[in-house]
Amino acid sequence: MFHSTAGVALLALVLFGCPQKAPQAPAPGTSTATPALHASSRSSSSENAKPVEPEKGAAPVASAFAERAAEREALVRESIQAEGVRDPRVLEAMRKVPRHRFVPPEYQPFAYEDRPLSIGHGQTISQPFIVAAMTAEAAPKPTDRCLEIGTGSGYQAAVLAELCERVFSIEYLPDVARFGAQNLSALGYTPGRVELRVGDGYRGWPEAAPFNVILVTAAPDHIPQPLLDQLAPGGRLVIPIGPEQGDQRLERWVRVAPGRSASAFRRQELMGVRFVPFLGEAGKKTR
Ligand code: SAH
Repeated sequence: MFHSTAGVALLALVLFGCPQKAPQAPAPGTSTATPALHASSRSSSSENAKPVEPEKGAAPVASAFAERAAEREALVRESIQAEGVRDPRVLEAMRKVPRHRFVPPEYQPFAYEDRPLSIGHGQTISQPFIVAAMTAEAAPKPTDRCLEIGTGSGYQAAVLAELCERVFSIEYLPDVARFGAQNLSALGYTPGRVELRVGDGYRGWPEAAPFNVILVTAAPDHIPQPLLDQLAPGGRLVIPIGPEQGDQRLERWVRVAPGRSASAFRRQELMGVRFVPFLGEAGKKTR
């Protein structure tokens, strides 16, 4: 979690979780999501139930976890820890997961700078501090079942996989889903520790519910009710909420009682953030 002083400082900043454009390192595909991808994925009514096929022959690469370890250590010490994340299990997971394996080759040199990077199709891998802070706020336990909305590169899913029993992750854009699936497969997270699906995360993953942790890595303008419904007793939902260009805030919802009433949840605002817009059902309601 955050030290209280660091927490105050954080509130004054607009922090970038998954912005629409990667600063300093623009690349083809960072401007807007490809309309054709929206169209093809929206046109399928059963899109929420499609398994993602990883590329065949992607063998686990154990040595990848040893690559660039000193850079990860420096990132953890100088940025993530310094900015207020203290949970030792989360810091350990950030030290372990090789972020450079989750970005396109042209961005690998920047993988251990504390900033988001383009992964193409108008999407980004989140700033490492945001990944660590959201994970710490969700406080995953080794026995937990976790759901992520917005697989993207697969990096956040891998971090969760280090901390939970099982991770389920949903991505809306099929091409992005393939990229994430390849990255997770190459590092041995799939099959087994992470399950992937292409579809609209607004609906959650009812067959795998309830979840102890739900992390959302794109910003809808309101809380998707199905995600609240799929929170286990004591479960934590960490989600950015707000308009595409305007003020977004990171919120944590904890289920404290059964049911749908306001008193079933404890809601907390964490900090100002900037995430890519939530596509699909919730996105349509804003237009
Ligand atoms: N967690 C990712 C961050 C990716 S950016 C990582 O670690 O790299 C957010 C992702 O959310 C994008 O890939 C975007 O396509 C996806 N997304 C947006 N709306 C979605 C929705 N309704 N359902 C599932 N994924 C969605």
